[in-house]
Amino acid sequence: MGTVWFVGAGPGDPDLITVKGRRLLETAGAVLYAGSLVDRAATLYAPADCAIRDSKNMTLEEMTAWLIDAAARCETVVRLQTGDPTLYGALTEMTRPLDAADVEWRVVPGVSSAMASAAAAGETLTLPELTQTVILTRVAGRTPMPQGEELEALAAHRTTLCIFLSITLLHEVQRALRAAGWPEDAPMLVVHKASWPGEEKVVRGTLADIKRKCQAEKVASQAMIIASPALGARHWPEIARSKLYDPAFTHRFRRAVTPIEES
Ligand code: SAH
Repeated sequence: MGTVWFVGAGPGDPDLITVKGRRLLETAGAVLYAGSLVDRAATLYAPADCAIRDSKNMTLEEMTAWLIDAAARCETVVRLQTGDPTLYGALTEMTRPLDAADVEWRVVPGVSSAMASAAAAGETLTLPELTQTVILTRVAGRTPMPQGEELEALAAHRTTLCIFLSITLLHEVQRALRAAGWPEDAPMLVVHKASWPGEEKVVRGTLADIKRKCQAEKVASQAMIIASPALGARHWPEIARSKLYDPAFTHRFRRAVTPIEES
């Protein structure tokens, strides 16, 4: 019996898979990949005699049956997923049948599209004294939101929000942020196909105009919505400094020039 590896392919650019993920693909006997977002990594790195299958038209039962069957024949089986497999990746739904069939499985993390989107825009998701928390969430589509996790409730924290799976519900995102008291001029960012060579689009706007701007740019799918008080900080006249690099701050690896108390 082989092992099924749930590998994060990263956000789209095949160079953003981890070294470990790539090595596993290079030795894989079978690869089941999740739709068009990750096919390039699969076809680039898997050996010529590897069984490669797109899971786009498969049910969960068909996918797990395919993986179990592949594990009976191959030492290394890869389930390739977009971004990181632990975010909106149906990981547990797939691993439970593997456990039931006594098939060994492991997870290799990947660069999530939330991180790739911030990188594409050159933005930081945390900034001292402004926001030190990132919420990864979505709005309710066919999957309902658990009680207390409605965007309106999460947005009340006024922290950074990375909103997955919601670009077609941008009006609902706007409604929730308004209801939580975000001002009309709050900066917002939408990144379409983050890291995809030649296809990435970064749309910047405000709570008031982000939907119109996305329509103008024809961004209607495969997009990350980011709302954060830290957006645009690189252009501000002044920001609070990170203590870690403050010359007056002593920590494990560096003595302060003029020591101050560690808080
Ligand atoms: N596990 C993935 C998320 C899968 S859910 C991850 O960690 O990124 C699919 C959603 O992820 C999409 O609706 C979109 O919101 C986001 N997404 C995936 N790839 C993206 C990309 N390259 N650019 C922007 N958003 C992306």
